[in-house]
Amino acid sequence: MKPAPFEHHAPLTVEQAVSVLTEVGHDGKVLAGGQSLIPILNMRLASPAHLVDINRVAGLDTVEVTAEAVRVGALVRHAGLERSESAYAALPLLRQALVNVAHPAIRNRGTTVGSIAHADAAGEMPAILALTDGVVEVAGPSGTREIAWSDFFLGALETSLAAEELAVAVRFGRFPAGTGTAFTEAARRHGDYAMAGVGVALTVADGVVSGARASFVSVTDVPSVLDLGPVLDGVEPGSGEWDAALDTAAEAVRGHVDPEGDIHASADYRRMLVTELTRRVLPQAADRATTPAPNAAFDRGSAVTTLSSTSSTAFGGQGASHD
Ligand SMILES: Cc1cc2nc3c(=O)[nH]c(=O)nc-3n(C[C@H](O)[C@H](O)[C@H](O)COP(=O)(O)OP(=O)(O)OC[C@H]3O[C@@H](n4cnc5c(N)ncnc54)[C@H](O)[C@@H]3O)c2cc1C
Repeated sequence: MKPAPFEHHAPLTVEQAVSVLTEVGHDGKVLAGGQSLIPILNMRLASPAHLVDINRVAGLDTVEVTAEAVRVGALVRHAGLERSESAYAALPLLRQALVNVAHPAIRNRGTTVGSIAHADAAGEMPAILALTDGVVEVAGPSGTREIAWSDFFLGALETSLAAEELAVAVRFGRFPAGTGTAFTEAARRHGDYAMAGVGVALTVADGVVSGARASFVSVTDVPSVLDLGPVLDGVEPGSGEWDAALDTAAEAVRGHVDPEGDIHASADYRRMLVTELTRRVLPQAADRATTPAPNAAFDRGSAVTTLSSTSSTAFGGQGASHD
């Protein structure tokens, strides 16, 4: 199928993009990688009169690593972030999750910020934004604002972005030293949307767990975080108490999620899956918490790496280059 006719706008700056979005209001849609929007237009599930194509906007294609966060611009493709060594060193969870997003061809074009703006409960990156206590940076007609992840996702495919606003970047928060992360999901075929998925971050201090949280894919309406500290804190990974604590954590997840059934999997099956996946993924995170980080320099909290100086080539075009 083909989309309904629309007017194509190609702003060169954030200000121009916001100005067009403000002018066209609810008749407009931002076009980033097009990997979700174009199928929707082709199926005529939406027919906006104006597409505001941000692919030529300068300055949105950078990954920046600071002591607190990994900041990802709105034109960074999933593949660019996945291959960024500095992002991986600072926050391995990003790559751990990104390799599960669709297929390489889609990751070469689709943007991480677009995935978050799309707010699909079956998307991996909205869950990762939640798990990292992340923030969305927004530009609008009255300036810029930041939206915490917990205020950003309102419902299935629904966010608190106004029609005239552009998400210019997201910031994924970094974890304290001694934190291990892991992500896993179950899909019918690799690259399909997951029937259920879970990401965890677990901190170990003085040999015992001192913080643990999990977030979920395809089993909650909107991204949500479950604090597993109350059941895991104080337990030594691998000790006699560890197995029972993992069982209790998995049961806490079973009670927390609220999946819907569809043609791919029943609600009960999804609940069972995510419970089992949590049971499997927590020990991986615990192992990583007690082994050296991929790049210990970034765990010292003082390193700041900005890729913007090389970004036009590093993340230009399809954005599939290494930094
Ligand atoms: C076959 C297939 C399989 C897929 N499988 C998965 C999967 O397993 N997991 C997964 O997470 N995703 C999957 N996707 C979706 C993919 O990750 C998309 O790239 C992503 O969801 C949207 O990113 P995009 O840049 O393509 O956004 P677009 O398609 O361009 O836009 C998506 C929506 O977000 C809005 N938007 C985009 N950028 C901004 C912005 N900067 N500011 C404001 N609004 C914005 C658009 O207006 C639109 O409403 C799949 C896609 C396909 C086609």
